[in-house]
Amino acid sequence: MKTSVPQPTKKTGNLPPVQWRSLIWYLILMFGTLWVWQEAARQVVYRTIPYSEFKDDLEHGEVVECSVGQDDIQGQIQPKAASATEKEAESTTTAKTPTAANVPPPENNAASQAKSTAPSASAPVAKSHSETNEASTQPKAPATFMFRTVRVEDPDLVRDLEKEGVKFTGVRPGFMSEFLWAWVLPIGFIALLWWFFSKRIGSLGQSVMSFGSSGAKLVADTDTKVTFNDVAGEEEAKYELQEVVTFLKHPERYRSLGAKIPKGVLLVGPPGTGKTLLARAVAGEAKVPFFSISGSEFVQMFVGVGAARVRDLFQQAKQHAPCIVFIDELDAVGRQRGVHIGAVNDEREQTLNQLLVGLDGFDANVGVVVLAATNRPDVLDRALLRPGRFDRQIVVDAPDLGGREAILKIHSRGKPIAPDADLRKIAQETPGFSGADLANVVNEAALLTARHGGTTIGQKDLEDAVEKVVAGPERKSRRMTPEDKRRVAYHETGHALVAAYSKHADVVHKISIVPRGRAALGYTLQLPENDQYLMSRPELIDRIKGMLGGRAAEEVVFNEITTGAENDLEHATAVARQMICLYGMGESVGLVHCGQEPNPFLPIPGDGMIQRDCSEETANAIDKEVRKLLDGAYAESKQILRQHRDQLDLVAGELLKHETLDAQTFKDLIKQPAVAA
Ligand code: ADP
Ligand code: MG
Ligand code: ZN
Repeated sequence: MKTSVPQPTKKTGNLPPVQWRSLIWYLILMFGTLWVWQEAARQVVYRTIPYSEFKDDLEHGEVVECSVGQDDIQGQIQPKAASATEKEAESTTTAKTPTAANVPPPENNAASQAKSTAPSASAPVAKSHSETNEASTQPKAPATFMFRTVRVEDPDLVRDLEKEGVKFTGVRPGFMSEFLWAWVLPIGFIALLWWFFSKRIGSLGQSVMSFGSSGAKLVADTDTKVTFNDVAGEEEAKYELQEVVTFLKHPERYRSLGAKIPKGVLLVGPPGTGKTLLARAVAGEAKVPFFSISGSEFVQMFVGVGAARVRDLFQQAKQHAPCIVFIDELDAVGRQRGVHIGAVNDEREQTLNQLLVGLDGFDANVGVVVLAATNRPDVLDRALLRPGRFDRQIVVDAPDLGGREAILKIHSRGKPIAPDADLRKIAQETPGFSGADLANVVNEAALLTARHGGTTIGQKDLEDAVEKVVAGPERKSRRMTPEDKRRVAYHETGHALVAAYSKHADVVHKISIVPRGRAALGYTLQLPENDQYLMSRPELIDRIKGMLGGRAAEEVVFNEITTGAENDLEHATAVARQMICLYGMGESVGLVHCGQEPNPFLPIPGDGMIQRDCSEETANAIDKEVRKLLDGAYAESKQILRQHRDQLDLVAGELLKHETLDAQTFKDLIKQPAVAA
């Protein structure tokens, strides 16, 4: 099953079409040459003469035989002595008249002329005559030649021919010639033009000729070399997909039971959680070819190309069953139809329709399983999700603690991890990280290790890598004035202290005033102790308090505020708005859900993304509530900081000295019990 596929796949994809095309070209060329040759040869062999001359010759009995075609008459003329001159004559009529007058042309069956001579004698006569008449002409025996003349409407032709006793035949229109003229030549010309233009356009990108056959992209990956062992933390997804693997491996088991395996499986989840990886792993586990195409590849410049690709894809897949077709980023083609207008949309709708037809087109048990991945299930067309199509949805969500640890283990395979490295601890420090983020952490750790010349990746490297992934790279070159530095130190300490004295806030993990990333001049890293799926109102309020703590500290200490708190304010407002609009936690607004989250898997920070769907009145009430909530939280933050002003100064001073403080040092400074990590 596996060994037979690899070579043929490539061959059918590439080789035969090339041979075929060259064959066609060869044939066309051959026919063309042949035809041109024939025409040319005819031009040389046949002398075209005017019809009147033909009639004259006929009258003189010089026409030996002829074939009468639809449009022309061809035949053989045996000139008599006199008519030899006309060979060289410019104007046939002028040459003809004296000839006819001077020489009585005697032939065997001549009716009008009485004098008759033997055929053998005609040559000397002709010779002598031409010598006498035109001295310049070579004294040559007139040769028999083939003639051709365009046929003129002449009812007496047959009678004349019979009279002269000429052997004549009728001819049907030349089939080959007709065919070439009418069909091969124009088609050949058009094909040539097409080829020429397609070459021109082809150089810009996709070849127009390669429309339907998406060619190289569709070459199946016969061994993805990925198995379920390479995917961690997605146990449910793996469990669900195991069924697909079993089906691909032992289809007869399902067929005998009459069970229908789902044709389409949709993997939904945030970016980087391993959807693509899982799809490859299914193919790797089942050891079947893997046809992979991205949704965006379907949408082409020309309307209809995408649809052709879909057709092609399913056709190829059917030929290689059992196999897996994987459509990555399905939302690129699978968007709700009829929402937008324009040419791009036409193309996408056609492609989508073809996709739907394709999904319906094959029997469930033929052995083709279509996997698709998206992080925008909300925008997909309903028709795609109905039973018989992508009816099975598997959520591939961000991994939990155990999953993160397993993913870290997978990605540290084959890397020199120091014995002191505690992957569990790193997993604890990275809630909300996706598989791709974790892979990045391990890689960054390796890079950091290499940078300081280490041989094994230690715990510190890993933690630094986490920080780098969270907050961006350190920017040591950014010089701040001592005054600014002091402000930043108090700001960050404000965050940390408010969090430390709020019951429900996340544990302060690290405080730093080393600039990082694009904007942050310093940061306070707070991490939840556990993965949190639900949050209560007090927890959210404590979170807001912590966010406003920085600004509160600036006000308490310097009695003025800087621009550094903008980001904090934005996040705090977003949380407050969500509490009231989405979770019904407002007091006066109450239990309504008046806002739409744009996408469950791609939340973009900032309250601007919540789409309002309520009345003006409610919106006003919401604004008031948000303000009240923020004002309350801010007041509480300031209260906490005023109350612990001595600690604020102490921690900020330490921070200025060391630039970073870890969780333990911070706890020691404010004399709180050590964190249980
Ligand atoms: P998605 O398609 O969901 O956006 P990918 O499958 O492309 O994400 O994942 C990107 C990379 O992240 C993978 O190549 C892999 O290295 C890593 N990765 C993501 N999720 C996992 C996981 N669950 N287990 C192991 N590695 C993972
Ligand atoms: Mg992907
Ligand atoms: Zn801040």
